[in-house]
Amino acid sequence: MTYKTHVAFAMTAAIPVGYFTNINDIDKIPFLFSVAIGALAPDLDEEGSYLSRRIPVMPMLFSLFGVRHRGVTHRAISVLFLLGLVIGLFFIDPGFESHLFIYFGFVLGYIMHLLGDMMTKGGINDFFFPVSSSKAVLMPRVYRFYTGSLQEYLVFIAIIGVLALEIYFFGADLYKGALIGFL
Ligand SMILES: [Zn+2]
Repeated sequence: MTYKTHVAFAMTAAIPVGYFTNINDIDKIPFLFSVAIGALAPDLDEEGSYLSRRIPVMPMLFSLFGVRHRGVTHRAISVLFLLGLVIGLFFIDPGFESHLFIYFGFVLGYIMHLLGDMMTKGGINDFFFPVSSSKAVLMPRVYRFYTGSLQEYLVFIAIIGVLALEIYFFGADLYKGALIGFL
């Protein structure tokens, strides 16, 4: 998945979550930002990815530790690690409660990234490491697509359609500007 599809796909979860949880209106756009960063973060292990080009030291650090792409950042265990980090922040961040939507948004975006990769032809190898070495995918191979392919573009268009509906139902005024900025 390209970074745009990853971000748009993550937004399809973020907008209803932002609506149905009691995140203040003023926090909703920062929440979406946090989800977007979370949706880009797993590919920090890949040299040409959107965030890596902005933080070029990250792929170098990862490769130093022998991490390959769709490796350690693409594991169920890394999501558990992130949740552990959030619990840890509870003890060191005095403003934890008012920042929780930021932490939660990041983890939500991260999970959506992994689900997105499971929709590609490659899927995610060793996702359930160390429990199982099978490949994690969301649907049969014929329905999955190659990154940057025409199929992915069609999926992206469909996602934008879903987003437009969600924005209409869950807070049109708030998100209009954000959507136009993103596109
Ligand atoms: Zn990825």
